[in-house]
Amino acid sequence: MKEAFKEALSRFASGVTVVAVRAGEEERGMTATAFMSLSLEPPLVALAVSERAKLLPLLEKAGAFTVSLLREGQEAVSEHFAGRPKEGVGLVGGRVEGALAALRCRLEALYPGGDHRIVVGRVEEVELAEMGPPLLYFARGYRRLLWPS
Ligand code: FAD
Repeated sequence: MKEAFKEALSRFASGVTVVAVRAGEEERGMTATAFMSLSLEPPLVALAVSERAKLLPLLEKAGAFTVSLLREGQEAVSEHFAGRPKEGVGLVGGRVEGALAALRCRLEALYPGGDHRIVVGRVEEVELAEMGPPLLYFARGYRRLLWPS
């Protein structure tokens, strides 16, 4: 069952985000694909964050977070914030530089979700960068969208 579950879920294509939190002097980021648009009125998004993630206690403390939506070519950023450090990757002003968009959120609610926590954020500010193709994740690898040139 567990293997079939993982295999089935690997067949669900998603975009890639980096969730970032600032608590006092500390700023942390974490790669997450378990992200969704939840509500328009009010504007809410939801994420599933592992109970083991170092980000989670900081997020609870900060009560706010930013979600950066990665663009094609930002594989190294995704890998970095998934615990496989790459040179020269970091956060600028709480977001990933060059991302397609960033959502500045206030923590709205936390719900149990098995070994993850469902994090609901109320979007307070939207930052849009130049439009372009997203970074995709499917079948355990990074993929590209066919994009008109
Ligand atoms: P760490 O593993 O310590 O931090 C992550 C990395 O970010 C470390 O290398 C750290 O050095 C670096 N870092 C953190 N803050 C900064 C900073 N301010 N400046 C520079 N570097 C910094 N997990 C989930 O819970 N939910 C998901 O939806 C999810 N989706 C994923 C999708 C993909 C494609 C991948 C590859 C991983 C996904 N993960 C997900 C796993 C998750 O990204 C990793 O387990 C992550 O390492 C957990 O982060 P952490 O908070 O425990 O801290």
